Amino acid sequence: MASDDALAQDQNSPGRRRWFGGKGTGSTSPTQEREDRMDPGEAAAVEAANGPDTLPTEPVETPVASDAPVVTEEVVGGIPVPPEALAALRARGGDDAAVELPLVISIANQKGGVGKTTTAVNLGAALAELDYRVLVIDLDPQGNATTGMGISHRNVEGSIYDVIMNDAPIDDCTEATTVKNLFVVPANIDLAGAEIELVPAFSRELKLRRALAQVAGSYDFTLIDCPPSLGLLTVNGLAASDDVIVPIQCEYYALEGLGQLLRNVALVKSNLNPGLDVRGIVLTMYDARTKLAEQVEREVRAHFGSKVYRTVVPRTVRISEAPSFGQPVTVFDSTSRGALAYRELAKEVSRGATRRSG
Ligand code: ADP
Ligand code: MG
Repeated sequence: MASDDALAQDQNSPGRRRWFGGKGTGSTSPTQEREDRMDPGEAAAVEAANGPDTLPTEPVETPVASDAPVVTEEVVGGIPVPPEALAALRARGGDDAAVELPLVISIANQKGGVGKTTTAVNLGAALAELDYRVLVIDLDPQGNATTGMGISHRNVEGSIYDVIMNDAPIDDCTEATTVKNLFVVPANIDLAGAEIELVPAFSRELKLRRALAQVAGSYDFTLIDCPPSLGLLTVNGLAASDDVIVPIQCEYYALEGLGQLLRNVALVKSNLNPGLDVRGIVLTMYDARTKLAEQVEREVRAHFGSKVYRTVVPRTVRISEAPSFGQPVTVFDSTSRGALAYRELAKEVSRGATRRSG
């Protein structure tokens, strides 16, 4: 709930003039007070707009200054991006991308809390439901994808740390989940050390790429849940991937740091992995009650066109509850809006691609 309070405060903030990359001024408005002000009619309208399983905050009018800066070609989230990098990144993906399996996809955005892990787990589960064989690689020392798929850190044979730092075969560190066709290479806090231990290592950027080569073709989709940083672990993820999917949270500061991410993708592309592209952008945590979400969506679509998946993942309680039960939302509440959204996303990402043979 803390983040929702922060959101509400942002939206109520009188000094807010820019919604991408700008620094807002905070204001204090206790949640309780706002909840008290919400009359039953309003609550019903909220329910009608969002369905019953969304977080209980009131609808908020979002004042946007008429002079709010538009994000331009070269400046994304306040950071200049070389136009050729943007052009290359836009060249493929979205509706136009051919889907030839197997595919390794990094789910990356150095911002924390934007829905990377949620997307890796639930997109993975939804692809597995479509009968694709899916491997999720947990590349975040927090290990949230691991626990979110029902695997306890303590009970695993080996982790992604052993794969990257000790050359353990990836197969030896792969765990089956309760979902058919869905596998995970778990992470635990050991991985936090890897970011530093990798620094002097030989071919430090290519450790994961080499490890994955051992299982090339065993999975239709390999989804890499990247950590919230642009350090060596993320570089390993990007260097090992065919594509990147970037989750963007439909909230204040949505595009902050995106320029930096795109520049890093461009750097990895030119130095380590010429095949790398941004396959798509997925809008997450969309709250239909806020004008802000609508504005973020409009702006991101105007900016990135067909790279942005048509499916928008709604902000729902069921999605946020599922990990504590160790289940993807597609299992936890199979008919919830969150489950449906991730299934739609899985269709967009896979586009009926032929499964690998065998
Ligand atoms: P990241 O991996 O980018 O740090 P997470 O996927 O862990 O982000 O999401 C951050 C938090 O937001 C988690 O507690 C998660 O359960 C919650 N969350 C993610 N997506 C949604 C959603 N669509 N609706 C509600 N809560 C969500
Ligand atoms: Mg995460």
